[in-house]
Amino acid sequence: MSNQRQVRVRFAPSPTGYLHVGGARTALFNWLYARSQGGAFVLRIEDTDQQRSSEESYAAILRGLDWLGLDWDEGPRVGGDHGPYLQSERLDLYRAQCDRLIAAEQVYRCFCSNDDLTRRADEAKARGDSWDGYDGHCRDLSAQQQAELEAEGRPHCWRLRTPEEGTTFWYDLIVGKREFQNAVLVDRVVFKADGFPTYNFAVVVDDHEMAMTHVLRGDDHVSNTPFQLLIYAACGWDPPKFGHMPMILGPDKKRLSKRHGATSVEEFQDLGIIPDAMVNYLALLGWSIGASGDEVLERRALVKKFSLKKVGSSPAAFDYDKLDHINAQHLKRLGPEQRRELVLPLLVQRDWAYDPAWLVPGVVTTAEYCDRVLKTLGGRFSNLARVPEQIGFFFSENYAVDQEARQAHLASAETAEQLGQLAAKLTDTCELSQPVSAAGFESGVRDTATELGIEAGALIHACRVALTGQSRSAGIFEVMELVGGPRVLARLRGAVSG
Ligand code: GLU
Repeated sequence: MSNQRQVRVRFAPSPTGYLHVGGARTALFNWLYARSQGGAFVLRIEDTDQQRSSEESYAAILRGLDWLGLDWDEGPRVGGDHGPYLQSERLDLYRAQCDRLIAAEQVYRCFCSNDDLTRRADEAKARGDSWDGYDGHCRDLSAQQQAELEAEGRPHCWRLRTPEEGTTFWYDLIVGKREFQNAVLVDRVVFKADGFPTYNFAVVVDDHEMAMTHVLRGDDHVSNTPFQLLIYAACGWDPPKFGHMPMILGPDKKRLSKRHGATSVEEFQDLGIIPDAMVNYLALLGWSIGASGDEVLERRALVKKFSLKKVGSSPAAFDYDKLDHINAQHLKRLGPEQRRELVLPLLVQRDWAYDPAWLVPGVVTTAEYCDRVLKTLGGRFSNLARVPEQIGFFFSENYAVDQEARQAHLASAETAEQLGQLAAKLTDTCELSQPVSAAGFESGVRDTATELGIEAGALIHACRVALTGQSRSAGIFEVMELVGGPRVLARLRGAVSG
């Protein structure tokens, strides 16, 4: 029997913006770790900053996690034994713990206003002294001094009494040992004058109360960790293990930002990236899979291969081209049903549906039509955002036309004449109000070419541009079958008159 505690990790976003790739990667690594260890993945919303938190951002974060398929075992919507999972609903817990620290004299009242602090910071600078945010001004106020200041109605916060000697250190699972001299750690606020806990205090209380075994987060929090460890010590609690993931850089090795392109998870969705590809790519960011490894991995394989030991400590550069490549590989591996599932919503968005008047052989529903259309894309199905453009001509008369192809294959009077002949040839067949098969169209095209004394290929090129607006497409006879007799005739005639 193992006496090891079950792994419990969390993703703890502040709802102050969209789900950024950095946050998504933090969520993913926690999720992967939980899933690979048979542990629990907890979602906690850190919304104590009332000014910056918004419902909209909260909803966007949940939408982003849902889209990525990172399901949580405890948290908003699903509940759990360690709730509530919104910090704004946990204020009593923070107050109670702060009261314990007050009773144990681990914290002290500080009456300094922001103006006082700014003034002293300026004075320190003027003297050439350094200023780290606080100078211990109220640390040793006597009980009488405190009472006087309170009587004056001066608001106060509570600061942690940091040891003056010794060091605070931890063995980080990713960046290795980190150590800070206590002498350089200022007495930070744990409870603000407005009655709200600070970020550092709320995080520690929650991570303890929620029985977290590991805290895996971005390395922008490394500077908070010593303070959090001091709070654990003051509370008499064992801290969890920490792992700080390196930040994500842009291709130019500067911090990833809007300047580089998409940064929020929803933007990638709009760019046609699918969740499995995004998850796969984010997992590879900062995680080396080994030289011989195939980098295109399904979720299950990622869970199986994941190890914190393989997470590197140097910043990872976001490579949009590689994401595109991985996305294409995932799309190519999808079966017809999965493809259809991804594409049907795109059709609905555009009001595109199969119309029985098109007379396509054997097709009754939009889903069937969609399957047939997607089959014509074959290996060109490599980015969801491009699909509507690739298949638009099947669903709408308002499709993009490649003007260069039009110029090359349709512009001459001779071509118009040939397409006119083809239209005449197909008129009888197409006007029978019966579906026409690819073979039926093929014989129409070949017979017309023979009658005109030209190569079938020349007629096929012209036909393709007239029917699809593109110079390349799937087999033209299959395309004709799917466009259907009535529309084939109309487009050929349109090309002749246009
Ligand atoms: N709420 C913090 C943030 O969004 C994360 C806190 C943590 O992971 O410890 O940056």
